[in-house]
Amino acid sequence: MRERANVTFMPLELYRGKRNFGNTPEPRGRTGKRGGRALSFVIQKHAASHLHYDFRLELHGVLLSWAIPKGPCLDPDVKRLAVHVEDHPVAYGSFEGVIPKGQYGAGAVMLWDKGEWRSLDTDVEKAYKKGDMKFELLGKKLHGKWKLIRINKDDKTWLLIKTKDRYAKSAK
Ligand code: MN
Repeated sequence: MRERANVTFMPLELYRGKRNFGNTPEPRGRTGKRGGRALSFVIQKHAASHLHYDFRLELHGVLLSWAIPKGPCLDPDVKRLAVHVEDHPVAYGSFEGVIPKGQYGAGAVMLWDKGEWRSLDTDVEKAYKKGDMKFELLGKKLHGKWKLIRINKDDKTWLLIKTKDRYAKSAK
Protein backbone atom coordinates (compact mmCIF):
# COMPACT_ATOMS: atom_id res chain seq x y z
CA MET A 1 0.00 0.00 0.00
CA ARG A 2 1.32 3.42 -0.92
CA GLU A 3 0.04 6.81 0.13
CA ARG A 4 -1.00 8.96 -2.78
CA ALA A 5 -2.41 12.47 -2.31
CA ASN A 6 -4.78 12.14 0.63
CA VAL A 7 -6.11 8.75 -0.30
CA THR A 8 -4.76 5.27 0.28
CA PHE A 9 -3.46 3.97 -3.00
CA MET A 10 -4.65 0.48 -3.87
CA PRO A 11 -4.58 0.04 -7.61
CA LEU A 12 -8.02 -0.41 -9.17
CA GLU A 13 -9.74 -1.29 -5.90
CA LEU A 14 -12.34 1.47 -6.26
CA TYR A 15 -12.76 0.73 -9.96
CA ARG A 16 -13.41 -2.96 -9.36
CA GLY A 17 -15.60 -2.38 -6.33
CA LYS A 18 -18.11 -0.47 -8.44
CA ARG A 19 -18.47 -3.07 -11.14
CA ASN A 20 -19.76 -6.60 -11.58
CA PHE A 21 -17.53 -8.05 -14.29
CA GLY A 22 -19.98 -10.85 -14.93
CA ASN A 23 -22.50 -8.24 -16.09
CA THR A 24 -20.47 -5.55 -17.83
CA PRO A 25 -18.19 -5.85 -20.89
CA GLU A 26 -15.63 -3.47 -19.33
CA PRO A 27 -12.14 -4.90 -18.58
CA ARG A 28 -11.25 -6.00 -15.06
CA GLY A 29 -7.70 -4.83 -15.70
CA ARG A 30 -4.23 -5.67 -14.49
CA THR A 31 -1.83 -3.39 -12.69
CA GLY A 32 1.93 -3.21 -12.75
CA LYS A 33 4.93 -1.28 -13.97
CA ARG A 34 5.22 -0.59 -17.65
CA GLY A 35 8.82 0.54 -17.78
CA GLY A 36 10.22 2.26 -20.82
CA ARG A 37 7.03 2.49 -22.83
CA ALA A 38 5.58 5.83 -23.86
CA LEU A 39 2.66 6.76 -21.63
CA SER A 40 -0.76 6.66 -23.20
CA PHE A 41 -3.65 9.02 -22.80
CA VAL A 42 -7.21 8.56 -23.87
CA ILE A 43 -10.44 10.51 -23.86
CA GLN A 44 -13.66 8.53 -23.94
CA LYS A 45 -17.00 10.16 -24.66
CA HIS A 46 -19.38 8.59 -22.19
CA ALA A 47 -23.11 8.93 -22.67
CA ALA A 48 -24.01 8.05 -19.08
CA SER A 49 -26.97 9.66 -17.27
CA HIS A 50 -24.98 12.88 -17.77
CA LEU A 51 -22.81 13.04 -20.89
CA HIS A 52 -19.15 13.61 -20.05
CA TYR A 53 -15.66 13.04 -21.38
CA ASP A 54 -13.39 10.70 -19.43
CA PHE A 55 -9.85 12.00 -19.55
CA ARG A 56 -7.24 9.38 -18.66
CA LEU A 57 -3.47 9.59 -18.26
CA GLU A 58 -1.40 6.45 -17.86
CA LEU A 59 0.89 6.46 -14.83
CA HIS A 60 2.39 3.62 -12.80
CA GLY A 61 0.40 0.93 -14.59
CA VAL A 62 -3.05 2.50 -14.26
CA LEU A 63 -5.01 5.27 -15.95
CA LEU A 64 -5.42 8.32 -13.72
CA SER A 65 -8.93 9.49 -14.55
CA TRP A 66 -11.00 12.65 -14.58
CA ALA A 67 -14.61 13.09 -15.76
CA ILE A 68 -15.00 16.33 -17.68
CA PRO A 69 -18.67 17.28 -18.17
CA LYS A 70 -18.06 19.76 -21.01
CA GLY A 71 -14.95 18.14 -22.48
CA PRO A 72 -11.61 19.84 -23.20
CA CYS A 73 -11.48 23.37 -24.64
CA LEU A 74 -8.67 24.77 -26.79
CA ASP A 75 -9.12 28.30 -25.38
CA PRO A 76 -6.58 29.03 -22.60
CA ASP A 77 -9.12 31.40 -21.02
CA VAL A 78 -11.61 28.58 -20.53
CA LYS A 79 -11.27 26.34 -17.49
CA ARG A 80 -13.08 23.02 -17.67
CA LEU A 81 -14.23 21.26 -14.52
CA ALA A 82 -12.51 17.87 -14.23
CA VAL A 83 -13.80 15.58 -11.51
CA HIS A 84 -11.08 13.22 -10.34
CA VAL A 85 -12.45 9.67 -10.31
CA GLU A 86 -11.02 6.25 -9.54
CA ASP A 87 -8.00 4.87 -11.40
CA HIS A 88 -8.90 2.67 -14.33
CA PRO A 89 -6.95 -0.27 -15.83
CA VAL A 90 -4.67 0.54 -18.76
CA ALA A 91 -6.79 -1.89 -20.83
CA TYR A 92 -9.74 0.48 -20.35
CA GLY A 93 -8.02 2.82 -22.80
CA SER A 94 -9.18 0.73 -25.73
CA PHE A 95 -12.65 0.02 -24.38
CA GLU A 96 -15.63 1.02 -26.47
CA GLY A 97 -19.04 -0.40 -25.91
CA VAL A 98 -22.26 -0.16 -24.01
CA ILE A 99 -22.29 -0.52 -20.23
CA PRO A 100 -25.58 -2.28 -19.50
CA LYS A 101 -28.52 -0.67 -17.72
CA GLY A 102 -28.27 -1.04 -13.97
CA GLN A 103 -24.46 -1.20 -14.06
CA TYR A 104 -22.20 1.59 -12.82
CA GLY A 105 -21.89 4.26 -15.55
CA ALA A 106 -24.56 2.65 -17.75
CA GLY A 107 -24.47 4.02 -21.29
CA ALA A 108 -22.32 4.10 -24.43
CA VAL A 109 -18.56 4.66 -24.27
CA MET A 110 -16.70 5.71 -27.42
CA LEU A 111 -13.08 6.66 -28.01
CA TRP A 112 -12.88 10.40 -28.62
CA ASP A 113 -9.12 10.84 -28.69
CA LYS A 114 -6.08 8.71 -28.03
CA GLY A 115 -2.33 9.09 -28.12
CA GLU A 116 0.66 9.70 -25.90
CA TRP A 117 1.31 12.17 -23.14
CA ARG A 118 4.52 13.61 -21.75
CA SER A 119 4.86 15.23 -18.37
CA LEU A 120 6.44 18.68 -18.34
CA ASP A 121 7.04 18.51 -14.59
CA THR A 122 10.42 17.52 -13.20
CA ASP A 123 8.70 15.07 -10.84
CA VAL A 124 5.40 13.80 -12.21
CA GLU A 125 4.42 11.99 -9.00
CA LYS A 126 5.05 15.11 -6.92
CA ALA A 127 3.11 17.28 -9.39
CA TYR A 128 0.16 14.87 -9.23
CA LYS A 129 0.16 14.83 -5.43
CA LYS A 130 0.37 18.60 -5.38
CA GLY A 131 -2.52 18.88 -7.84
CA ASP A 132 -0.55 20.97 -10.30
CA MET A 133 0.31 19.02 -13.44
CA LYS A 134 1.77 20.34 -16.68
CA PHE A 135 1.97 18.08 -19.71
CA GLU A 136 1.87 17.73 -23.43
CA LEU A 137 -0.63 15.68 -25.42
CA LEU A 138 0.14 14.00 -28.72
CA GLY A 139 -3.27 12.84 -29.80
CA LYS A 140 -5.33 12.80 -32.98
CA LYS A 141 -7.55 15.67 -31.85
CA LEU A 142 -5.62 17.26 -29.00
CA HIS A 143 -2.05 18.53 -29.16
CA GLY A 144 0.30 20.80 -27.28
CA LYS A 145 0.50 21.86 -23.69
CA TRP A 146 -2.15 21.50 -21.01
CA LYS A 147 -2.56 21.88 -17.25
CA LEU A 148 -4.56 19.97 -14.69
CA ILE A 149 -4.96 21.95 -11.48
CA ARG A 150 -6.62 20.75 -8.28
CA ILE A 151 -8.71 23.52 -6.76
CA ASN A 152 -10.15 21.69 -3.79
CA LYS A 153 -8.45 19.80 -0.99
CA ASP A 154 -11.03 17.00 -1.31
CA ASP A 155 -8.94 15.65 -4.27
CA LYS A 156 -12.05 15.57 -6.50
CA THR A 157 -12.25 19.03 -8.02
CA TRP A 158 -9.70 19.86 -10.69
CA LEU A 159 -9.62 22.09 -13.77
CA LEU A 160 -8.31 21.20 -17.23
CA ILE A 161 -6.84 24.25 -18.95
CA LYS A 162 -5.12 24.68 -22.30
CA THR A 163 -1.74 26.36 -22.07
CA LYS A 164 -1.00 29.10 -24.63
CA ASP A 165 0.89 27.62 -27.56
CA ARG A 166 0.39 27.21 -31.29
CA TYR A 167 -2.41 24.67 -30.71
CA ALA A 168 -4.46 27.05 -28.57
CA LYS A 169 -7.53 28.60 -30.15
CA SER A 170 -9.79 31.36 -28.89
CA ALA A 171 -13.37 30.23 -28.33
CA LYS A 172 -14.70 33.77 -28.89
MN1 MN B 1 -17.39 7.99 -17.33
